[in-house]
Amino acid sequence: EAAAKAAAINADNGAPTIFDKIIAKEIPSTIVYEDDKVLAFKDISPQAPVHVLVIPKFRDGLTQLGKAEQRHGVILGQLLYAARIVAEKEGILDGFRVVINNGPSACQSVYHLHLHVLGGRQMKWPPG
Ligand code: ADP
Repeated sequence: EAAAKAAAINADNGAPTIFDKIIAKEIPSTIVYEDDKVLAFKDISPQAPVHVLVIPKFRDGLTQLGKAEQRHGVILGQLLYAARIVAEKEGILDGFRVVINNGPSACQSVYHLHLHVLGGRQMKWPPG
């Protein structure tokens, strides 16, 4: 537990993350959608039949939603719209969930803003 706490404290240190390597295609991912601003790829540990991550290609300080500033408004909208494109591509437009885990209390583990797009099964509420 001490290790987990230390990891949480050091988590948002602005360092490059594994997602930078995915953007640079230095490590493989299954890409669902890509444009000049946004990348969407399958989560390596899917929590639903469809589980796709949508990330900005340029983090610009956006390690987590809680760090967003007014200048990030455009990219935030682009990410949300990309989530809708992903849902359509994956055939779950009739029912899907978009999740952002922000900070240690929400179990954020990668400090590069990302939207989880989940679907393909009945989603329950409230989430854990
Ligand atoms: P959590 O790990 O608690 O879900 P996050 O909201 O930070 O917290 O989500 C990070 C997500 O990134 C996880 O769902 C994890 O499975 C995913 N992930 C980590 N490494 C990779 C990778 N190399 N390729 C695809 N997804 C990854």
